[in-house]
Amino acid sequence: MTEETKKDLTLDPQDWEAMRSLGHQMIDDLFDYWKGIREQKIWRPIPDEVKEYLDQPLPEKGEAPEKIYEEFKHYIFPYNKGNIHPRFFAWIQGTGTPLGVLADLLASGMNPNCTIGEHSAMYVDHQVVNWCKQLMNFPTEASGILVSGGSMANITALTVARNSFGDEKIRSRGLKAASAQLVLYCSVETHSCIQKAAEIIGLGTESVRKIGVNERFEMRVDELESQIQEDLKNGLLPFAVVGTSGTVNTGAIDPMDELLAISKKYGLWFHVDGAYGALAKLNPNYSGRLKALEDADSIAFDLHKWLYVPYEVGCTLIRDSKKHREAFAITPNYLLQESRGLSGGLDSLNNYGFELSRGFKALKIWMSLKEHGREKYAQMITQNSNQAEYLGKLVEKNPKLELTAPVSMSITCFRMIKEGFSEEELRELNREILLRIQEEGIASPSSTILNGKFTLRIANTNQRTRMEDMDLLVKEVLRIGDEIINEWVNS
Ligand SMILES: *Cc1c(COP(=O)(O)O)cnc(C)c1O
Repeated sequence: MTEETKKDLTLDPQDWEAMRSLGHQMIDDLFDYWKGIREQKIWRPIPDEVKEYLDQPLPEKGEAPEKIYEEFKHYIFPYNKGNIHPRFFAWIQGTGTPLGVLADLLASGMNPNCTIGEHSAMYVDHQVVNWCKQLMNFPTEASGILVSGGSMANITALTVARNSFGDEKIRSRGLKAASAQLVLYCSVETHSCIQKAAEIIGLGTESVRKIGVNERFEMRVDELESQIQEDLKNGLLPFAVVGTSGTVNTGAIDPMDELLAISKKYGLWFHVDGAYGALAKLNPNYSGRLKALEDADSIAFDLHKWLYVPYEVGCTLIRDSKKHREAFAITPNYLLQESRGLSGGLDSLNNYGFELSRGFKALKIWMSLKEHGREKYAQMITQNSNQAEYLGKLVEKNPKLELTAPVSMSITCFRMIKEGFSEEELRELNREILLRIQEEGIASPSSTILNGKFTLRIANTNQRTRMEDMDLLVKEVLRIGDEIINEWVNS
């Protein structure tokens, strides 16, 4: 053998000290970025040069990490989405926190696959799920699992609901075991992931009843009940009601007490999609309306939205831990547990969900909750709602603006109006305002259409937003709107 072939290969750095100082540089750059973010443009268009750079063939040979980092800084870093910025209000997205990011770094450095085995990450994960139950005031005997986000949390819960339906042995025999079609109820405002979940777990789109909403975009309970009765009359099997705590469009809250009562009356599984707004429970102004969450059969909620931890992590809580386990547990020979040693310890987490490989996503939640405590999160969540309401008042005070939905949770929907403009012209005006305010890098609202009205939508789960950002937002919307109207008049 030559000297060369005797060398064992590795992916570790050839020069540890150089990699260490590169790592320090990355951390320094990140801290500068975070500290200065308020003064930065929130978003910038991606130049063609960058898109070309990101359309290259697979590398055959390696390059120096320093060079790769330089390219990252030039081509990737400047064109971030912007949701770490204090004026990011699009969709529903969290900001993250510095310690949350560092926790992710540490989690990735330890790199445990957090599903099975006797190691510390399993206990951190277990504790975080217990803390999630406490945040929701859910019973201690309940079970839960951390997943990638709200969509996975919802499908996990609905899978348990389906597999534990009646005595039909749906898990082993599939849906054909049920004597008729299972039917799920939600509202027309329910997030699309519920429909997708229903399709994936074999119910099909036709089994999803989308109940109408009132003028506050909340599910109409009378319509729900008459639909259930009609389905029963037709020999179908109503099996689950999904109530939303904070709809993605307007932050509306379905009437939880009534949904719980109807679910009990008809023996249905009551699931709450609280991906966005279950955590509003921590705001005293909302805790009363969300009290019934505590009696739900299952809750899905995101921690990367209103707990502000870095992407990605959501949580499912299931009241009946036995049903939860029975929906997923399988123990193949290669996953046997022992009472001692590395394969001892807590019940394997793949008995509670579909995923087998799981990162140590619990650490960023564990560190964040320890860093700030429940009280601070309650204040932050309340602050976001107060900011949304303040914005609502600014809109109401201004004759050039109009609210298009009641302010709820932390979402404010409004548009600019102008006398003599048709609906179509108003749509064009507000769309152009939206695009320009984004392109000028001032703020990032998103849009929706409510009762046919094209609407600017400000969803605030942002731990960096200040009240003054709301004043600035209104000022800039009006400035840009007037500018557009002038251009139209002069053309
Ligand atoms: C965000 C959201 C979802 C989806 O959650 P992801 O974390 O994006 O998968 C579902 N329902 C509601 C109400 C949401 O706000």
